[in-house]
Amino acid sequence: MLKVQDLNVFYGGIHALKGVSLDINKGEIVTIIGSNGAGKSTLLNAISGFLKYKQGVIEYKGEKLPISPNKVVKMGICQVPEGRLVFANLTVEDNIMLGAYLRKDKNKIKEDLEKVYELFPRLKEREKQIAGTLSGGEQQMLAMGRGLMSDPEIMLLDEPSLGLAPLLVQTVFDIIIDIRKMDKTILLVEQNAYKALSIADRAYVLEQGRIKMEGSAKYIADNPAVREAYLGAK
Ligand code: ATP
Repeated sequence: MLKVQDLNVFYGGIHALKGVSLDINKGEIVTIIGSNGAGKSTLLNAISGFLKYKQGVIEYKGEKLPISPNKVVKMGICQVPEGRLVFANLTVEDNIMLGAYLRKDKNKIKEDLEKVYELFPRLKEREKQIAGTLSGGEQQMLAMGRGLMSDPEIMLLDEPSLGLAPLLVQTVFDIIIDIRKMDKTILLVEQNAYKALSIADRAYVLEQGRIKMEGSAKYIADNPAVREAYLGAK
């Protein structure tokens, strides 16, 4: 469904992605694990059309993805960025509805809003609250809810559990499983490798801009080098 081939991204002299290739099939949860600075956000930003790349191809359903965030969203790919980035001065509901700004199908938008509130009852309770006053976890839910409002086929989630208390981390991962059940495909970038591998079908390990390993989530989770580097096992 989504195919990245030999992707190279540079920030000036920094070669951030060095020939990255990966595939995501419809309905999968695929996770990219890697430490700080490995290039995970860079990869998502390149797919989403935020970053120019010199070399490589990113294809979605056989079509080359444009380097234009709006066009990429229209094609059915939506990124929920790291750090949530909600509009602090707008209400929860206004933030959620912003996710639908490229859509014209009013009735379906209304339906999707109800679905988002079903998935995140906490947001429904707070629909008129100013987003800047939400807790970190609630802002994360808001960012995911807003992403869903573009009615994506693929969601790119950048560190959704970052900075959350353990109980909320579990909630966020449970919600990702629920989102997959809504017929969505998910590319999940996480530093919490343990949790990410526990819900993913397949995984890629990204180190210093290169894919070092790939396979089923179980295969990756059982790999001794991965266990030592990312799962804290000896
Ligand atoms: P983290 O888990 O810490 O968010 P990451 O795996 O998402 O890390 P990236 O943010 O993709 O890593 O960064 C990959 C590399 O590219 C890093 O060395 C980073 O310093 C560099 N980089 C990222 N953005 C820029 C930029 N705008 N200008 C220059 N270098 C950048």
